Amino acid sequence: MGKFDVIIIGTGPAGLGAAFKLIENNPRLSILMLDKESICSGGLLNDCKQNYTYPIGFPLEYWEKEEVDQLLQEVERHLQPSILPQSDLSKYVKRAQSVHTALLEIRQAHVGTNNSKYLIKKLISDLKEKGVEVRLNTEVTAVNHLHKKLEINGAESLYYQELIVAPGRKGFSFLQELMNEEGIEYSDNQVDIGIRVETRMENYSIVNDYYDPKFYFNNKVRTFCTNSGHALVTKEKYNDFYLVNGHALSKDTNQNGLANFAMLKTIGLKNPVRSGQQMGVFLAHLANSVGGGQPIMQRVGDFRRGKRSNVDNFNDDLYDFVPTCEVCPGDLGLVVPSKIMRDIWAAMKSLDTIVPGVLHPSTIMYYPEIKMYANKPIFIDDFFQAKESLYLIGDGAGTSRGITGAWASGIRAAQGILKK
Ligand SMILES: Cc1cc2nc3c(=O)[nH]c(=O)nc-3n(C[C@H](O)[C@H](O)[C@H](O)COP(=O)(O)OP(=O)(O)OC[C@H]3O[C@@H](n4cnc5c(N)ncnc54)[C@H](O)[C@@H]3O)c2cc1C
Repeated sequence: MGKFDVIIIGTGPAGLGAAFKLIENNPRLSILMLDKESICSGGLLNDCKQNYTYPIGFPLEYWEKEEVDQLLQEVERHLQPSILPQSDLSKYVKRAQSVHTALLEIRQAHVGTNNSKYLIKKLISDLKEKGVEVRLNTEVTAVNHLHKKLEINGAESLYYQELIVAPGRKGFSFLQELMNEEGIEYSDNQVDIGIRVETRMENYSIVNDYYDPKFYFNNKVRTFCTNSGHALVTKEKYNDFYLVNGHALSKDTNQNGLANFAMLKTIGLKNPVRSGQQMGVFLAHLANSVGGGQPIMQRVGDFRRGKRSNVDNFNDDLYDFVPTCEVCPGDLGLVVPSKIMRDIWAAMKSLDTIVPGVLHPSTIMYYPEIKMYANKPIFIDDFFQAKESLYLIGDGAGTSRGITGAWASGIRAAQGILKK
């Protein structure tokens, strides 16, 4: 019979965090996890960098340091991270201060895209052993919360007492439809828009001392998701456009000597446009149209001279490494709004003062890298309950911005259910 105490949609870190908390505290619960993919997608699979310092990954409106410090210990117990060493940071901190920039020192671990699937398989098998049922390749196609009923793969019906929805950022349209149908109010006024920078590791040598350095510049610009060793820029497919992103293989893989990181600016929208997603999608369409259906990349050398980058000379002379992601060479000036480009370029110059070399002419800037934080539901309690027995968690619901934060949001939802 398809009836469960708890159904969790999504096997990303948010769903996993909820499932472990529930089953470890009440083994009698019948719990079903559903995922439309054959392995959970998102950042647990890609790169799998884990940040263990507040507030990285924890939106301040939902999280206090004291609670996060406690929950992170629980996350560590399951993910068993090998914390990376950091060295010689004082010189970077000093240089950063001289250009009004902050460098946050974060406890980090990195698994790498080639090894993360083993971690995921272990977590799923642990859950199954504890009695959680997991169905992969199973898409939730409709939710009827009034009758506490789900439809999967457009056919079979399942019933639940409590529903946890953790569909991730890519699941934003699923979440949006659910909120619309259930009359859940939400706000959505933020979006992070920026570029992905790719350069030789020797031009961004800080990565030898600090795997994912978190710089906070003026005008709400920050570095995000740095990868090195065997680092790759990648295209992320959305319905009708591509964004760029980055990841790296584990440290025991042959290095390609490259590093990449995002430079993002947070935009807060007010009247008349209040939807960060709307703006993000609009800008992504613009860039993909100008790029002939692809994102755009430009060498710093060309950008500085006000020239578009071309296929013919993209790898000539000073342009001495081949891009890891084949997109359209072009002109960022035509597609990035000027206020955003100005602030990002100012931050790049500050960064070049802190880590001299990053503005080498060969450095590539890819666009668009956009983080569309899905609409934030208005919750009825602190456990991310948006409606009685309906919990919305993880990056999709805007309660986290990364693996560890997503896992913690799952723990919190589980605490709400356990309390009942
Ligand atoms: C390329 C890439 C690299 C990243 N690297 C990092 C990193 O190194 N470190 C970091 O902290 N963060 C990283 N992130 C961000 C990270 O992915 C998220 O913060 C985190 O995975 C969010 O967890 P989540 O559980 O909310 O969602 P997700 O991990 O996205 O999981 C959601 C799951 O729900 C499933 N799903 C969605 N809709 C349905 C449906 N209708 N029916 C059934 N299943 C559904 C999806 O298939 C997916 O498996 C990266 C993201 C990307 C895209």
